[in-house]
Amino acid sequence: MKVLKFGGTSVGSVESIRNVKNILASREGKKVLVLSAMAGVTNKLVEITENIKLENYSAINTIITELKQKHETTIDALIDKPGLNSYAKAFVNNVLEGLQEISRNKYSEKVYAEVVTTGETMLTYIFSTFLTNSGIQNNFLDAKDFMQVSNLENPDTDLVGKLFQQNIENLESTDIYITQGFVRIDVQNNISTLKRGGSDYSATILATAVQAEEVQIWTDIDGFHNNDPRYVENTHAIAELSFEEAAELAYFGAKILHPQTISPVIKRQIPLFLKNTFTPDLPGTKISAEIHSRGLKAISAKDGITAIKIKSNRMLMAHGFLKKIFEVFDKYETAIDMITTSEIAISLTIDDDRNLNLILEELNAYGEITVEKEHSIICIVGEGLIEDKSTSRLFELLNDIPVRMISYGGSDNNISLLVDTKNKIKTLQGLNHKLFEEQEVPQFV
Ligand code: ADP
Ligand code: ASP
Ligand code: MG
Repeated sequence: MKVLKFGGTSVGSVESIRNVKNILASREGKKVLVLSAMAGVTNKLVEITENIKLENYSAINTIITELKQKHETTIDALIDKPGLNSYAKAFVNNVLEGLQEISRNKYSEKVYAEVVTTGETMLTYIFSTFLTNSGIQNNFLDAKDFMQVSNLENPDTDLVGKLFQQNIENLESTDIYITQGFVRIDVQNNISTLKRGGSDYSATILATAVQAEEVQIWTDIDGFHNNDPRYVENTHAIAELSFEEAAELAYFGAKILHPQTISPVIKRQIPLFLKNTFTPDLPGTKISAEIHSRGLKAISAKDGITAIKIKSNRMLMAHGFLKKIFEVFDKYETAIDMITTSEIAISLTIDDDRNLNLILEELNAYGEITVEKEHSIICIVGEGLIEDKSTSRLFELLNDIPVRMISYGGSDNNISLLVDTKNKIKTLQGLNHKLFEEQEVPQFV
């Protein structure tokens, strides 16, 4: 069994949906397909949730009408058998009527999840019916029947596997199962999500659950690039990455993979391939347990970072002091990403600032606190990076870039810099020149 995930742009138009069908047709064997919503649809659904808060029903109706048109036009272009065409439209209309009803509720996390996951529900049904219309047998599965993920950080993949098997056991055997990414059932048995971009994570949870031989993540770019192509020119796809390298890059902001995508597949060492739906013959990137080359591989950036400095004259390094500081973060279930210490101060970063005020209140007891928001962690990654002599060139950049913190040596594979987000793009570009192109670093203004 293989798990193939197709992202929003891969199912974003009639033409790309046809591409996906051709990709499936050219690959043999049993496959589970995890699909996103059509590109742009989840953003529209998030807009609906904002309007639920505002009780702005006319704005909600306008969006629902747009979604109806978009999906019906897609159905008409792809599904020409009258019976199947009207089934697909009835399904979509039913989902949209449900959306209309949910929108009359008071906003809650459950309402948010029910609304934003409907894009995947509609698109998967349309795709399944499109395959049937083309004579390709397939089974449509509701992910809510098996994606029982109570712990977002550590999903119980054995449970998901058991529920998945129970679900398919009585179905007619086919080579293709189609299901939704993004959605999950939480510990209270409510609909929830795997967070924005979460379909990648759905795919690797499911791959581990069904003990798939590989996962393929199909998107709109030819693999994992050595730097963020949205901000840096002349980036290139990397042929091979180790699980650890890819996990660091995804966690530290490489948008191509949801931050937690890699962790489930590391457990069972299931290789993951990143491929471009629009150029399927290109090799893409293979992510596996193999280490093919050492040294610098790629750079990524994670935004929304808050830096907290705790300055204390009361012997910061006295034993037990750090423990007390960490306990405060632990109490509020807030992960620390970077940390540096000196004799009188400790600086650390968090990305989840939901409990920031409570954390700061408690930290006040330990010293003088300074908080700086809107920072970015720039993460430089490669197996054995620390031993790579050329990496030291990055320190030349410190003349030009105000770097707030550096983490070097925490692992052999990662060097992290904390910069003000307004310097992020310049830093990514500067590092690209220094580390990959050895050209002059752009000047800061
Ligand atoms: P999908 O909808 O298929 O999940 P995403 O938009 O989430 O696609 O991810 C693909 C996009 O990620 C690319 O189009 C690219 O702009 C962006 N991206 C950011 N960093 C990288 C990187 N290091 N390598 C490749 N793409 C990246
Ligand atoms: N459709 C969801 C989103 O846009 C999930 C995904 O595409 O991965 O966030
Ligand atoms: Mg994505």
